[in-house]
Amino acid sequence: MLKRLLLIGLLCVPVAAWAFFKPVRIIAPELAGVSCINDTLCLDDVSRSQEAAKLYEEALHFVDSSVGSIEHKPRVIFCSSDACSQSFGLGRRAGMTIGTFGIAISPRAWKPYYMRHEMIHHLQTERLGIIKAWNDPEWFTEGMAYSLSEDPRAQLSEPFEKYRTQFKGWYAGVGKERVWAEARYL
Ligand SMILES: [Zn+2]
Repeated sequence: MLKRLLLIGLLCVPVAAWAFFKPVRIIAPELAGVSCINDTLCLDDVSRSQEAAKLYEEALHFVDSSVGSIEHKPRVIFCSSDACSQSFGLGRRAGMTIGTFGIAISPRAWKPYYMRHEMIHHLQTERLGIIKAWNDPEWFTEGMAYSLSEDPRAQLSEPFEKYRTQFKGWYAGVGKERVWAEARYL
């Protein structure tokens, strides 16, 4: 449901109103009070730039080499405060990816596997297109993100554990080379 609302928001809301729709602030993060130190890295606490850059590069390299090559490097907003998280509408989520527009990371998501998880969502949109990626079943989109990010948690909260298991079974059958071609039929 949230995905549908976001899609409707992205497609229908006039540009001037976007800044009031929290997740869409990812497109123009400066309006939400964060500083962008380059095209891909924005933070509310710039003293943590090095730590953020390290997480970013590690995840980019990991996803590129073990999931699929990323065409356009995503912009990532690293939030150190809850106020920052809430200004992007993260709610209780650890991270959020809006199409290929950008990624927002909450204070608790400054971990390699969370960063990889969101970059995998970015890659899904690059490979499948925004409409297809958002309409694909969650066992595929979330299952892939949890599984291929090598999330170390032995047991995820449901329904994500179920999604991860279902994706693993599907992936074992189609193989890495055919994953995007097969995903188009889901
Ligand atoms: Zn996810």
